[in-house]
Amino acid sequence: MSDASAQPTTEVDRAIPGPLAGYTTLRMGGPAGRIVAATSADEIIQAVQVADEPILVLAGGSNVVIGDAGFPGTVVLVRSGGLRILTEDAGSVTVRVEAGEPWDDLVAATIGNGWAGLECLSGIPGSTGATPIQNVGAYGQEVAETITGVEVYDRLDGTRRVVPAAECGFAYRGSIFKYQDRWVVLSVDFRLTRSPLSGPVRYAELARALGVEVGERVPLADARAAVLRLRAGKGMVLDAADPDTRSVGSFFTNPVLDRATYDQLLERSADLGEPPSWPGADGLVKVSAAWLIDKAGFTKGHPGEGGVAISSKHTLALTNRSGTASTSDLLALASTIRDTVHNRLGVTLHPEPVLINCAL
Ligand SMILES: Cc1cc2nc3c(=O)[nH]c(=O)nc-3n(C[C@H](O)[C@H](O)[C@H](O)COP(=O)(O)OP(=O)(O)OC[C@H]3O[C@@H](n4cnc5c(N)ncnc54)[C@H](O)[C@@H]3O)c2cc1C
Repeated sequence: MSDASAQPTTEVDRAIPGPLAGYTTLRMGGPAGRIVAATSADEIIQAVQVADEPILVLAGGSNVVIGDAGFPGTVVLVRSGGLRILTEDAGSVTVRVEAGEPWDDLVAATIGNGWAGLECLSGIPGSTGATPIQNVGAYGQEVAETITGVEVYDRLDGTRRVVPAAECGFAYRGSIFKYQDRWVVLSVDFRLTRSPLSGPVRYAELARALGVEVGERVPLADARAAVLRLRAGKGMVLDAADPDTRSVGSFFTNPVLDRATYDQLLERSADLGEPPSWPGADGLVKVSAAWLIDKAGFTKGHPGEGGVAISSKHTLALTNRSGTASTSDLLALASTIRDTVHNRLGVTLHPEPVLINCAL
């Protein structure tokens, strides 16, 4: 444990409040009281211990919507990095990855090493430490399948420990770590399979892009290349030259409906065709939020006020099209979409990013 009285040693301390927009992929968010960068797990702990309340732990800023008033307290930027092998045998390797390690660098490295398990999660922005927070997932894979534990600093009792995967409460775009400020993620352990081939491809669109049947395996590098291609076509790979990527990715989660609500939706949308859906446990059905938004009358490129717009490549991404739009403009568009979908189709959409000092 670190000495609570010690100041972070190598912090980049931007004592002058700067707009948080510069630290988010949306390019939105007002000033912070103070911004501190921490470059190791020990520094993260120190920074959190000595920081003035309230504290915001921020990494890649790709899953946050920060209000125009900014954040009044201390923002701790997670800038640690690195990976080490914890255990390995003929068939698998378990690695511990520091929270600030850029996620896609990790994915690329695992593929280069012939370690399978993360290949379909290629191209997702942000840090490794944030992946357990919402159980990051895409193209039929999610991190809950490979995470064995999450090393945290518990702000409640000042301890540092590894939370085993079974206690992380992983769910669709969620875990015990989302919407809380008790646990700060320091590193994440992944158990990966030694294999030149991907896991069975589960996502039909990806299988089509690879020219294989669902359930087949492909070389890891092929899986990565196909995922990156599909994602880029949807504006889901960060590209400074592409305003469609000035977003948080999907703004709404796919709603998970009980059978009665799903049947109601089928009735209300009878003349619109059947919604793309995925059966879940206990009779629950996950429905495509993009389809609901589209059928409620919001097509790709739909503009809001003040320079925000639905991405021209994906109905589910709300973008800072002009680059100078405000958070309140973005949330106004989001609430119009949410309310219209609810009124027309009876389904309530929920935001996927974490809203900080603002509300929908
Ligand atoms: C173009 C684009 C595409 C995307 N595609 C996907 C996708 O396919 N699938 C998917 O699941 N997500 C996707 N996302 C969302 C986002 O990239 C992921 O959720 C990512 O894991 C967020 O990482 P981050 O480091 O940017 O987190 P941040 O935005 O910095 O933080 C997100 C939340 O996690 C908390 N947090 C971050 N780091 C820590 C830490 N070390 N300890 C404690 N709390 C922490 C923050 O306080 C905040 O509440 C996409 C986003 C964009 C912009």
